[in-house]
Amino acid sequence: MAVLTLERLLASMGFGSRKDARGLVRMGLVELDGKVLDDPFMEFKTRPEFITVNGEEAPTVEKLYVMLYKPTDVECSHNARDHKPVYDLLPERFTAMGIQSVGRLDADSSGLLLLSNQGDFIHKVESPKKGLWKKYRVTLARPFTDAQKAELLAGVMLKDERRPVLAREIEVSGDAVDISIGEGLYHQVRRMFAAVGNHVETLERIAIGPVVLDRTLGEGGWRFLTDEEVAALS
Ligand code: URA
Repeated sequence: MAVLTLERLLASMGFGSRKDARGLVRMGLVELDGKVLDDPFMEFKTRPEFITVNGEEAPTVEKLYVMLYKPTDVECSHNARDHKPVYDLLPERFTAMGIQSVGRLDADSSGLLLLSNQGDFIHKVESPKKGLWKKYRVTLARPFTDAQKAELLAGVMLKDERRPVLAREIEVSGDAVDISIGEGLYHQVRRMFAAVGNHVETLERIAIGPVVLDRTLGEGGWRFLTDEEVAALS
């Protein structure tokens, strides 16, 4: 395995090519434990946990597992057309590291969005075989009736789908309704409520399997998933 030099370490963290990384070091922008590092070829036996680049104390991880509190009016696409991409809310270097969203939330939905650069993780979390329930909190345009609840729990037929889709669980809390579903079909929650004669006004994803939206992040905030959260999803 190639020796881990400072320039390689920085490049693996998405700070550009090795040449770009050398430039950062030569400009005196790279620090470890409060000391400026001036040799791009210095060697590490083990990866340090953090390194400071241009004032940002960055964890040196190569594998990204991120939770974003997605606000409305941003799109889960690298080539967003009508809004800003969600990737603009994360450090630019994550894009260079190949970060992708795990599934999608509509532009007008908010809440828990997971992102990673590990294809097997993305695939597992998205896979219906894994059977992770997704929980959404919605507010509705019209009163939510017991009949609507019963219909959603029994299963509704959506246009262009072959099988009925059903709510796994529904809880009413004040003006909001929490609904858990097993699949991740296009506009699924909005279409399910429309199918029973209601209309979703706001939609926020609050959990994916065992991982719950961390509201302390605030809309637009993000953090790395803990090891426990990654393990619970893997
Ligand atoms: N269902 C929807 O209708 N929209 C989302 O963003 C997610 C689930």
